[in-house]
Amino acid sequence: MLKKLFGWGKNSAQSQDPDALRLGVDIEMNYCPSCGDEYRADIEQCVACNVALISGSEKLAQKREKEKAFNGKSMDISASDQLVTIKNGKLRDLKPYQILLGRQRIPALLSSEAGGCAKG
Ligand SMILES: [Zn+2]
Repeated sequence: MLKKLFGWGKNSAQSQDPDALRLGVDIEMNYCPSCGDEYRADIEQCVACNVALISGSEKLAQKREKEKAFNGKSMDISASDQLVTIKNGKLRDLKPYQILLGRQRIPALLSSEAGGCAKG
C-alpha cells in the first residue's frame, strides 16, 4: 500500500532538466518575454503585455545565457575603469555595501579620502 503512494505522479519532475529546476523554469510551460509571467502551454499570448509567449525551453536557454554572462563578469578594477563614489562613511559601515555589490558581481573598492586604498 505504501509503495503505491510513494512517488505518485512525481515521474515527470524527475525527468526534467536540473537547470530548469534550479532556474525556476518549467519547460512544459510558456513564458512572457516581457513580464516573465508563466502560462499554460496552449496559451500563446500574454494577456497583460499583448506579446507572443516563448516556450519554456527558450526561456531556459535565455536564463542560461544570462547566468553565463553574469558568472563570466570580471571582478577586477583596471586603471581605465571609471570609479564613482556611492557612499561615504566609516570602513565598517561601508563593508556591507561592498559585499552587496559583490553579490551582483559589481566590483567595489573602499578607499580613504587621502587616496589610500583599503581593498578587500
Ligand atoms: Zn507579459
